[in-house]
Amino acid sequence: MPDTNAHGDAVAQAQPGPRAASGTPPQPAASAEARTDERRFRAYTFAVLSLGLVAAFAVGSWLPFHWDSRLLWIGPVLAIAFLLAEQLGINVDVRSGISWTISFTEIPLVIGFFIAPFEVVLAAHLVAGIGTLLARKVAGRVLYNAGAFLLEITGAFAVAGLVKYAVGAGVGDKIPWVAALAGTLTAPLVSTLLALAAVRVLRRRMRVSTAVRLTARILVVGFVNASVGLSGYLVISNTPKAWPLVLAVFLGLTALYWAYSDLLREQRDMEALSDVSLMVARSGQQAAARPASRADELVGGVDVREWATIAERIKDQLAAGRVVLRLRLEPKDTMRVVVAGEDLPPADPTADDPLLRLPGAHVRHFRITEANPDVRAALLDRGAQEALVVPLRSANQLLGVVEAHDRLSRWRGFGKYDVQLLGTMASHLATSLDNRRLLATLRHDAYHDPLTGHLNRPGFRQVAKEPLRDFPNAVVLRIDLDVFSTVSDALGYAWADRMVIAAGRRIRDALGPDVPLARLEGASFAALLVGCPPEDAHHAAERLREELSAPYPVDRLSVEANAMIGYATTSADEPGDVVDIEGLLQRADVAVRATKGGEEVRGYVPSMGQIFLRRFQMVTQFRQSLEDGQVSVHYQPKITLPNRQVQGVEALVRWVHPEFGRLGPDEFVPAIEAAGLIGVLTSFVLGEALKRCRKWLDEGLRISVAVNLSVRNLADEDFPNKVARELERFGIPPELLTFELTESGVMSDPQKALPILRELHSLGIVLAVDDFGTGYSSLAYLRQLPVDQVKIDKSFVLGMGTDLGDLAVVRSIVELGHSLGLTVVAEGVEEDVARDQLEAMGCDVAQGYLISRPLPEDRLEAWLQARTARSPGRHSETVLTLLT
Ligand code: C2E
Ligand code: CA
Ligand code: CA
Repeated sequence: MPDTNAHGDAVAQAQPGPRAASGTPPQPAASAEARTDERRFRAYTFAVLSLGLVAAFAVGSWLPFHWDSRLLWIGPVLAIAFLLAEQLGINVDVRSGISWTISFTEIPLVIGFFIAPFEVVLAAHLVAGIGTLLARKVAGRVLYNAGAFLLEITGAFAVAGLVKYAVGAGVGDKIPWVAALAGTLTAPLVSTLLALAAVRVLRRRMRVSTAVRLTARILVVGFVNASVGLSGYLVISNTPKAWPLVLAVFLGLTALYWAYSDLLREQRDMEALSDVSLMVARSGQQAAARPASRADELVGGVDVREWATIAERIKDQLAAGRVVLRLRLEPKDTMRVVVAGEDLPPADPTADDPLLRLPGAHVRHFRITEANPDVRAALLDRGAQEALVVPLRSANQLLGVVEAHDRLSRWRGFGKYDVQLLGTMASHLATSLDNRRLLATLRHDAYHDPLTGHLNRPGFRQVAKEPLRDFPNAVVLRIDLDVFSTVSDALGYAWADRMVIAAGRRIRDALGPDVPLARLEGASFAALLVGCPPEDAHHAAERLREELSAPYPVDRLSVEANAMIGYATTSADEPGDVVDIEGLLQRADVAVRATKGGEEVRGYVPSMGQIFLRRFQMVTQFRQSLEDGQVSVHYQPKITLPNRQVQGVEALVRWVHPEFGRLGPDEFVPAIEAAGLIGVLTSFVLGEALKRCRKWLDEGLRISVAVNLSVRNLADEDFPNKVARELERFGIPPELLTFELTESGVMSDPQKALPILRELHSLGIVLAVDDFGTGYSSLAYLRQLPVDQVKIDKSFVLGMGTDLGDLAVVRSIVELGHSLGLTVVAEGVEEDVARDQLEAMGCDVAQGYLISRPLPEDRLEAWLQARTARSPGRHSETVLTLLT
């Protein structure tokens, strides 16, 4: 008989939806709802039982009863047949969480019509059914099921009796086969209708199509079963010797049926397996899509709700009353308990649980009938009759335990297929968890800075996306601490790292735990403030800067640090202009670069962007512009004092840009330097200057050329070799080449710069300290440098006439330079007075607008020709005298 187990079993499932708990009682609302459902179901049970009893009474008095002593053995044989027929049944999975069993009950029933009266068949069925229920100690369901049994058999006999009457058979006549068939089909129909009503009573959802499909399937199977039983009985009762034939047909059909059910089960099990693995994998992706998820909602990177769904799926597949997932995916985590199905009675988490002592990785099957009293007690604590328990293991680590309690069937407990299925599920689950953990680690590493543990740039982009979409007012802060290079130079990288960690911690403390914070590189951080109106941004940045500027205790040292903050707000843009996180980061970066020079906090304004756009263009177009001849070298003469001979020229680069016009080196040299293109610039200028020098030599003029170097040139170890090759190429004596370097340039990285400078010096090249007086200007340090010249910065020379201080500086530099045996050059000589003063002080060389502005080659030629007297003869030493 197709048998719907929705009966009492469904009570256990009355909880709506999956729940998660960590040893806490379930939500009161869910419980209250469950209690109402339980009350409704009790009323339903009462109705079914009363109706069954009344109907059985009525049908019993209507149908005749003939006593026969053979009934003494027919009754027990029928009961055993019913028992066997049920035991061989298979489960059909229905997603309402109610399991339906298809069995062979129709076979004993249809035969029962011929060999026994109503009362005996009813008794046999009741004894078989209730006996099994009681043996499995599922007391709560007995009454409802008893009522259902009564109605099934009563209905069957009532219909059979009516059909018998309808086909015109007499009261004492044997029952016609049509009547037996119709009656037999009534039983599964009644039980199905009762179960569908139970689904309604419990307010569980089942689609109409599912209900119809299920009923149809049960009727078809019922019909096949009844026909087999009927034909077998008819053949044997007519030709008793044909029993082996009937047996063969029956066995054949059974074999087919089993093969089919095995196939069905295997297919369903495969589906369930891939479902569970997929759920873990998919939930991992979802969790990754919102990295800001609160850790307490996640177990092993998987949302607790997802775990509940997984538990629910396992429960459905095993037709278990309850599935418990116990998870501890990280060693330091507390054990999390996720329950699907019936509530788990609260348990003492510290107690030693004999069901959780799990050696190996296989599934263990515990039953209440077991001898071990500890196991019995543990099952009773769970309110369970039996339990399948399997550990989730990865390598040697216990990730968790899966428990399945009480199979939802009124006849059978868990079988070997359930054990197998749970075992495979557990290993799939453990593998997917392992993969998830690996993935989570990789993802975490991809989005986080290993040093500070804050986000990195890609992580920041990812995390910032969502709040940026949700909040109209957002501010991106870019925080630069100027400490990194200073500390790492002075103390080494380990200290700089500690400094960065300390700074990161301080920013985190200042901004609070929920603000997305990233370390971009070095000692640069970025933070996203949401819900911060643009007018408050400056204040917020300023406050943060103050906090960051306090000294950092790093071990026993206290390191001073200066913080610069640039910020960009979402509303700083022109209307209609959409800014994403990338754009904001870039703007904040532009703003922080604009902080130099006093203002330590700056907000982005569009004009800043223009500057940077221009810079960007300059950097990208520089190489091409060299080829296109947009870049040239101008020369500014230097004359000796007091005899005013041309001592040399300084090469100064010029760029006439097709779009931006004339660009001064102060504008583009720093950009080119930062872009790592200074080598290209220097070799161009050097080449031009040496070519010029060669021409003069060829004309018999010995004029030295000075080329400005940047610190970055000194980072190139091969630089001296390159210079030597160039000198050789043009055949220039090295003493005709001067390199000018600012002192702060050399100071910033003396270890690197000094060897290169020494090498250049040993080549015979003249070295000059440019802009002297503006930097640290340490005498001791000047002595260490292999230099030949100092160039007094033009700011002092220009101010000399009006400022006594400047005059004093110039005077002392001249004296200092001479005391060190250096040639002293003054630049920025614009007036006669200045030249005369310098001459009086004993300054060696003068350069400035008074003598000449920097000139292009042709005009320099003219200048030289107009102002000098030239002695004839090519390679002879020539003296150039200034005429004016
Ligand atoms: P600098 O080396 O100090 O060059 C002298 C600057 O002072 C030049 O500016 C020159 O035009 C200007 N100057 C000369 N005499 C006077 C004067 O009497 N009064 C005033 N007010 N200014 C005077 P310029 O050409 O704009 O160059 C600026 C800076 O750019 C240079 O300063 C130098 O540091 C850098 N620079 C120029 N060419 C190159 C180059 O080829 N390579 C590198 N690395 N830097 C260069
Ligand atoms: Ca210079
Ligand atoms: Ca200078």
